[in-house]
Amino acid sequence: MALDDIYKEVILDHYKNPRNKRELPGAELQCHANNPLCGDEITVFAHVDGGAVAEVTFQGAGCSISQSSASMMTEAVTGVKIGDARGLAERFRGMMAGDVEPAEDEFGDLVALKGVVQYPIRIKCAVLAWDVLQEALDGAGSASGAQPHTV
Ligand code: ZN
Repeated sequence: MALDDIYKEVILDHYKNPRNKRELPGAELQCHANNPLCGDEITVFAHVDGGAVAEVTFQGAGCSISQSSASMMTEAVTGVKIGDARGLAERFRGMMAGDVEPAEDEFGDLVALKGVVQYPIRIKCAVLAWDVLQEALDGAGSASGAQPHTV
């Protein structure tokens, strides 16, 4: 099987069997966005605890790229410190802009989305879940505004 085919399989697997696709009752963080160009919708729910993303889930509808990216995103940032989750979001965005070469051990299944770079109109689909995650995490900063926090 060619690498492109393996990547397609990974994307379709996440699309058909999405990980962490459910609401998260009592989530401190929740954020929603859509991609009008394609009709994709993503809502991200997250529990943060001790400066880390303790649990993250999503709900959504749309194309296979947007939904599989959301599924991969929840797997990639669960249990990760907020700063590291932001860093990964930045590097993912960099990969989709074509100027970051992904490290396979950090990116895991996300590497499968690299091929989307060839289809500029779909890049927004791939980064949508990460945009929503970052916006949700921005809320984490203000929620803990009363407490000093280290970065
Ligand atoms: Zn899409």
